[in-house]
Amino acid sequence: TKFSDLGLSPTLLMTLEREGYEKPTPVQAQAIPYLLKGHDLLGIAQTGTGKTAAFALPILQHLLSNRKMPSPKMVRALILSPTRELASQIAESFKTYSKGMGLQIATIYGGVKYGPQYKALLGGLDVLVCTPGRLIDHIEQKTVDLSQVECFVLDEADQMLDLGFVKPIRQVASRLPKKRQNLFFSATMPKEIGVLASELLTDPKRVEI
Ligand code: AMP
Repeated sequence: TKFSDLGLSPTLLMTLEREGYEKPTPVQAQAIPYLLKGHDLLGIAQTGTGKTAAFALPILQHLLSNRKMPSPKMVRALILSPTRELASQIAESFKTYSKGMGLQIATIYGGVKYGPQYKALLGGLDVLVCTPGRLIDHIEQKTVDLSQVECFVLDEADQMLDLGFVKPIRQVASRLPKKRQNLFFSATMPKEIGVLASELLTDPKRVEI
């Protein structure tokens, strides 16, 4: 399989060439066509398989082909990550793949000052990558509005479970609009994670690596 067989736009194909990505990894080859068609996805894949690009590229294509100025406090694509480190890496990937395209991308996590986060949210965001606890703080302070989210990604769901984030995730999900695209990734599928996936996803395509 080649990247050009998956339905990606010429702009993103050029980005991949610039990054030196020669061909899609298995999770990318399987997931990208489903995601470009707008399906929900249940991905069972570990870190290192290229799963970040598997979700970032179709999300960027959606954002760029339906370009809008995000309104203040609004978020178009929301990615939840269990740790700060992973959140930063995911945001870096989005920035790399959308270099020069003028998208607003921010990372938000706990343990740091609120000021810069308020400012980033106030401007409105195309992509917000965050850890669950700090996002709940912003929801409660009404400094973020999730009612216009178009794409929702839950990454490393099994780690979320281990870190006690299932309740915050359900709280976040209750703020999202009904009509949205959902992506759910986990390395393993313990029972609780299967239950959470069935709550969050609508008729998902399943990709297992
Ligand atoms: P991830 O599993 O998303 O953490 O990605 C693992 C690493 O693989 C990252 O450093 C990516 O930049 C790199 N990567 C992702 N997709 C490809 C690809 N198709 N070809 C080469 N490298 C890739």
